[in-house]
Amino acid sequence: MALLQIAEPGMSADPHQHRLAVGIDLGTTNSLVATVKNSETVVLADHEGRKLLPSVVRFLPDGSTAVGYEARRAVSEDAQNTIVSVKRFMGRSSAELKLNASLPYVFAENDGMLRVKTVAGDKSPVEISSEILKELKARAEESLGGELVGAVITVPAYFDDAQRQATKDAARLAGLNVLRLLNEPTAAALAYGLDEGAEGLYVIYDLGGGTFDVSVLRLTKGVFEVLATGGDSALGGDDFDHRIFCWAVSEANLSEILAPDDKSRLMVAARAVKEALSTAEEAAMNVTLSSGQTITLTLTRAKFKELTSRLVQKTIDTLDFVMRDAKLDRQNIQGLVLVGGSTRMPVIREAVKSYLGFDPLDNINPDEVVAVGAAKQANLLAGNSAGDDWLLLDVTPLSLGLETMGGLVEKIIPRNTPIPVAMAQDFTTFKDGQTAMAIHVVQGEREIVDACRSLARFELRGLPALVAGAARIRVTFSVDADGLLSVSARETQTGVEAHVTVKPSYGLTDEEIMRMLKDGTGNAQQDMHERALREEEVESRRLIESTVGALATDADLLTDQEQNNIRDLISRLLAAVESHELEAIKSLEKELTQATESFAERRMDRAIAQALSGKSVEDIEGK
Ligand code: ADP
Ligand code: MG
Repeated sequence: MALLQIAEPGMSADPHQHRLAVGIDLGTTNSLVATVKNSETVVLADHEGRKLLPSVVRFLPDGSTAVGYEARRAVSEDAQNTIVSVKRFMGRSSAELKLNASLPYVFAENDGMLRVKTVAGDKSPVEISSEILKELKARAEESLGGELVGAVITVPAYFDDAQRQATKDAARLAGLNVLRLLNEPTAAALAYGLDEGAEGLYVIYDLGGGTFDVSVLRLTKGVFEVLATGGDSALGGDDFDHRIFCWAVSEANLSEILAPDDKSRLMVAARAVKEALSTAEEAAMNVTLSSGQTITLTLTRAKFKELTSRLVQKTIDTLDFVMRDAKLDRQNIQGLVLVGGSTRMPVIREAVKSYLGFDPLDNINPDEVVAVGAAKQANLLAGNSAGDDWLLLDVTPLSLGLETMGGLVEKIIPRNTPIPVAMAQDFTTFKDGQTAMAIHVVQGEREIVDACRSLARFELRGLPALVAGAARIRVTFSVDADGLLSVSARETQTGVEAHVTVKPSYGLTDEEIMRMLKDGTGNAQQDMHERALREEEVESRRLIESTVGALATDADLLTDQEQNNIRDLISRLLAAVESHELEAIKSLEKELTQATESFAERRMDRAIAQALSGKSVEDIEGK
């Protein structure tokens, strides 16, 4: 049955009106905006016909800003006020960024938010990023001749809640309505229309200016699912520039210590040579240093290949790691998509091809492909589509779970689960009469809380006072289509509920994610021992607690010798628990259970006798 369509208030009810929507690739190095016009996707250019917008923002003393090429030209002369690669700072604290001294910025951190000190005041990454988005919004509205109803903005698949939230905030600040955050690899696959093609597994290899991302997508019945992600956040085109820079310094016998200005001139020239070598067999490098000295060098493809072979191999190793992690064989892949300006380098294409044994997909411009896919998705979400339904599935990069007694982790949503997703699990109380429960949400692969990352804590209060283990608390984790997590806890009898939307103040780096993944597999054995130990410890403490409670009320049921024996076992068990000796804990626990068996029987008899006293036989028989 067809559903009736209802127009949103304030929106035109005319179904034929084309609603202006764009896709934005908010890149570390370059950003782009694209749209679907007359069923064709176009990348929108500036007045000078340039499609890329360098992701560089310069703050000027009069409070104005310059964005893009103009800002990029000022990088060396006004480094402190000219911010490059702001994407790396999104949703992060200074501690997490391990800010290295080589960054030219002065950072300020108050109320947990990182800011860059500039002549125009302290600027947060969200504000800086919003300047790039404002520029792209203005470009789109001018070229399309109207106001945008919304935008799809792409983010790396491994971006966590904080980074996604920061991206959304930047868009809001730029006056953009975010239709959806879309994972970059998924956008690339959409650009190629892979959703309409053969079912199977696809790999997205994205080598940009400073980052390298690998993602594995699975397509089934037109539906995408991100199976795995990985990469290296410190590997990209800049490293190739740097190899040429070092080569030039040594070829021209320049001193190791160069003036910052000369260094940047050489780096600019190195990048130009690198880009030229993508289409030419050799390229000239001409640089005039501040001293007036001129350097003229020629770099051949063969030499470039030699200089960069380790970098190229590093990307292949990472690709291989991600494929193995996803238990994928090269033969099983339907196709590999090349994304990112750096994949124009023939050295990369050759290496990828020889690794795969077949040609990668590369007929869409690799630095536009993400924006193109985002534009298609935006067009669909704005309601301009021909009606074919896409269902986009992304994946959780790390497992999400809860802390349980003894500092253990119970995973609720395993890693690589397609999102959106909601999963629930029931928990219970540990102590008699417990009326509150602390809920600690963590992310990571390890079994031990301390080895995972803490995302949020909240409390569920007002639980009915029941005996330990009787209450049922249902905890639900849901991750929405944008990858944002919310957790709720509900006591099923009374309906008391508590809820938290997880907005951690800082995110995880993808190295951290990689490390946590490696840790998770490497430490499985150790974790198992640790888990067994902690479970025994929890169990022992429970046993001690109930025995002590029983002694307090019914010690008179025991002989002195029995009492002493039980007390002695209690203190020895407690000592074993405190010194974490698994074997001792196990055997003492067994002894204490045996020693208290007849005590438990006697207590039971007494309880029954008390219940019966003063009642007639008829009462008991229920007459
Ligand atoms: P990001 O995704 O990091 O924003 P891009 O995908 O735009 O970045 O990639 C930028 C990188 O691509 C830069 O290092 C740039 O030098 C490189 N690049 C662009 N064009 C070429 C080319 N023709 N040959 C080699 N590298 C190129
Ligand atoms: Mg990119």
